[in-house]
Amino acid sequence: VRGVPSILVISSATGNPRGVRPRLFRELLGFEIGARPELIRNVYDLYLTPSQGIEEGVLRVVRALGRGGLVYVPVDRGIEYANQLAEFLRSSGVRAEAVHSKKAGALDRFVSGEVDVLVGVATYYGVLVRGLDLPEHVRYAVFAGVPRHKVGLQVEELDVADVLRLLPLLVEVVEDESTRDFLEASLVKLRRAIRRAGSLVVERLREVARGERPPETSVERTFTEVLARVGELVRRGDIIEKLTRLPEVAVVEEGGRLYVLIPDAPTYIQASGRTSRLYLGGISRGVSVVVVDDPRLLRGLERRLSWVIEDFRFSSYADIERRLSDILAEVDRDRELIRLIREGGITKEELSKLKGLEFKTSLLVVESPNKARTIARFFGRPSVKEYGRLRVYEVSLGNQTILITATGGHVYELVTEGLSLPAEPSRGWVDAYGIAVRDGKYVPVYTSIKRCLSCGRQFTEELGEGRLCPYCGSPNVADSIDVVEAIREVAREVDEVLVGTDPDTEGEKIAYDIVNAVRPFNAEVKRVEFHEVTKRALLIAVANPRGVNADLVKAQLVRRVEDRWIGFSLSRLLQEDFWRLFCSEVVPSRTNASYERYRALCREYPTSYRNLSAGRVQTPVLGWVIEAVERFRKTRRKYLAVEVEGLDAEVVFELPKELSGVRASDIEQVEVEVYDKVREDVRLRPEPPFTTDAALSELSARFGIPVPRVMDVLQDLFEAGFITYHRTDSTRVSDVGIRIAEEYLRQVEGGKYRELFVRRTWGEGGAHEAIRPTRPIDADTLRRLIEEGIVEPVIKLRKEHFLVYDAVFRRFIASQMVDAEVTVERLRCRAVVKLRDGKVFELESAPLTLYVEARREGFLKYDRRFKLRRSLDVGRYPAARFRLFYRSDQPPHTEATLVRRMREVGIGRPSTYSKIVETILKRGYAIRTRGTGYLIPMPLGIEVYRYLTSRFRELVSEERTRELEQKMDMVEQGRKEYSEVVSELYRDLSELGLVGYGNSGYGNSSGLQA
Ligand SMILES: [Zn+2]
Repeated sequence: VRGVPSILVISSATGNPRGVRPRLFRELLGFEIGARPELIRNVYDLYLTPSQGIEEGVLRVVRALGRGGLVYVPVDRGIEYANQLAEFLRSSGVRAEAVHSKKAGALDRFVSGEVDVLVGVATYYGVLVRGLDLPEHVRYAVFAGVPRHKVGLQVEELDVADVLRLLPLLVEVVEDESTRDFLEASLVKLRRAIRRAGSLVVERLREVARGERPPETSVERTFTEVLARVGELVRRGDIIEKLTRLPEVAVVEEGGRLYVLIPDAPTYIQASGRTSRLYLGGISRGVSVVVVDDPRLLRGLERRLSWVIEDFRFSSYADIERRLSDILAEVDRDRELIRLIREGGITKEELSKLKGLEFKTSLLVVESPNKARTIARFFGRPSVKEYGRLRVYEVSLGNQTILITATGGHVYELVTEGLSLPAEPSRGWVDAYGIAVRDGKYVPVYTSIKRCLSCGRQFTEELGEGRLCPYCGSPNVADSIDVVEAIREVAREVDEVLVGTDPDTEGEKIAYDIVNAVRPFNAEVKRVEFHEVTKRALLIAVANPRGVNADLVKAQLVRRVEDRWIGFSLSRLLQEDFWRLFCSEVVPSRTNASYERYRALCREYPTSYRNLSAGRVQTPVLGWVIEAVERFRKTRRKYLAVEVEGLDAEVVFELPKELSGVRASDIEQVEVEVYDKVREDVRLRPEPPFTTDAALSELSARFGIPVPRVMDVLQDLFEAGFITYHRTDSTRVSDVGIRIAEEYLRQVEGGKYRELFVRRTWGEGGAHEAIRPTRPIDADTLRRLIEEGIVEPVIKLRKEHFLVYDAVFRRFIASQMVDAEVTVERLRCRAVVKLRDGKVFELESAPLTLYVEARREGFLKYDRRFKLRRSLDVGRYPAARFRLFYRSDQPPHTEATLVRRMREVGIGRPSTYSKIVETILKRGYAIRTRGTGYLIPMPLGIEVYRYLTSRFRELVSEERTRELEQKMDMVEQGRKEYSEVVSELYRDLSELGLVGYGNSGYGNSSGLQA
């Protein structure tokens, strides 16, 4: 009704809102329905290992907990067993009744109090699991055996769902790589098809499996093939043997047939969730006890649950039995409140006082949409509302509603031109590339960021009438001011706004912008900081809000102003002055073919070329690339590498100058003589967990993935909640981190873990931490959980994600383990080389060090970088193979060594390492060679560097850049005034003619020094 406030209540009995109706809501009302509130739970999860049998165990629990109990029997034991168990409980004096879908009367008797305990089957869609909504009556749940799926290993009986459950297990045990790849790919394909079209596809696949129809679609053909492969595999004794040894499932034999039991986490969550519900007073307390029939299944269940419900851990019922009356009192108090609320017998104020609760609505603003989505998923599938282009997720915690949204990065950027100052230039303000300058005052002028969705350009020019892109004329332009406006609109409706942007200077600047934009509309706006996207970190952050840190913001402003001044002024010089000289003087004077490209470019862009830039850090780094290759050319020597049977390493000999002309075809025979061998025991320490620079340099070198791609992968893993913040120069590990390592080793190593685990903090103090996993789940397990559909990351994880996650995980676990003790052998070798012309000469190798034996494996178990190698005794050995090659002990830079060098020298920051490398390649200043990954400078890069250093040596030098970085760090720590740093730089740059009136001081173009 127009003008009358109203509420639309949407309620659905099915758990998964999909299909046309939810789509209607989304399109017509800008609202998407949420689901899965079961992840919001407040349950004591307990297990009991019975001494005399399952039934006795159930009876013990039911006797202690009394009325309001739900007893679940495993699906494979079925309703008959439910009847038996109910009968057994009754014969022991418990008022119990089994529940059938047809026999609804039992529920009425449960509500009226005639029956204390209901017994039913634990299946996801069972009556007791989903069809029951009695929050004030249900007090606890008991599982008579771990809830599971039972999959028969007779292929003709396999149902579609069984095949999907079996495939991840087979993937784990099959050794043949092509079969494994096929099974994995098929699993993904089948899952996707079923997710998209649901029961229709399943029904058709069933018909195909029964041979009632030939396979028609590609999915059906894949399914037929999968069935055939699975059929072959489950007939193989070795496969069954391996399935039996999997730690978290059970293979059982019944009536001469084999079955696999697989823990069923979704059913456990649903069923135990009947005891704990969202209500106005928060989330009611419940109790759930698993009476264990197979410890492997309990462990598998726990591991699966620990992904879906953070920090999940079963506690022992026996340990808690003494406190049972306290727990039950808590349970009953919540039931009483629910009853009172339902009957209208309590006001919101009374409830708030009674439970010490605040009723409020909070808006949480982060920068990345993936991060927002990950956070929203902590609470099940959230509702979604759209404010223009802004997506807002909404979750409820009973007394608290949390809205979550993302800015999509920075919202304001320095203007580039058309500076509209608060005062006229005639009053003395000068526009220095977007910073207004007058009388020693520097005012950076920011405006909103516009992105053209058609041509992809990003710009700051104001949009005129019609909001058209100034580059391509498209009306499809996103303006960040709309995001700000939408956030303001939401902020008006909530009690508080929390800004949870990334924990570094960039994140602080975004937070500052949002806080200022929102404050006039909502005074309760605060900054929250978290270093990992997990529920635990989020809740701690929300409980500890702070103000915006002005020093961090100032540091970011200085950084931006400096980048702008140095980058913009030098880039413009390059794009015009340099380019003109390059095309008119350098290019015509060179005749070699590599200049053809440049000749074409000069014809195409005769006056200016936009794809040129110089940056504060970029230029000294380009210098390193050039110098390294010059050094390499001077120092490279010819080497002979020899492989010998029985030795797991090449022996490398340097050729003296006079032999540098020798070619491989000149050599008739090579023998290696090991003339000395020393054995030594050494102790190896693990390395600290990754910092940004260590991760970028090591992972890019090890996997051959370009540095910028490694950075993207780390970013994805962070936003999806799998690792801690990836922009860090700290190696510190928090208590939470240490507990994760301990928990993982306990799970994997069992009792032995105490000898392996050692607490190492790798540094003290500060909020920042090393890059580490957020959960005790290794890469293989993570992959399986995703395949099983238990973990649903907000981004699709590819091979690279798993490689990088695995490396981060292993390095971290190793960092929390005991030292290794290994035996090394140092070999001294000489080579006797016989040439075809009869000449013979001897060469001497550098000592060769090999790890030959681990006396104590320690951390090496998880550290894949060290390998044990076979060594040789003293003696003479013929070469199995040999090769000649050039090498230098000063090789050219790779992306990896550049990042390491930036860190060592102290220029660039975790947030910029990767960007700098990327820019040098993108500008065509250098190329990456295939294979070695060496960065080789191109003539353009060499000329650019020469141009810049010949004119602005002071400004672009390594020392100068490092000094600037140090000053910025001091601003960040509040030890130096922001305006002081800016004004020093301004003075220097105006002396060089790079900033000042009208930016006209380009200096004189006096030709390039060739
Ligand atoms: Zn455009």
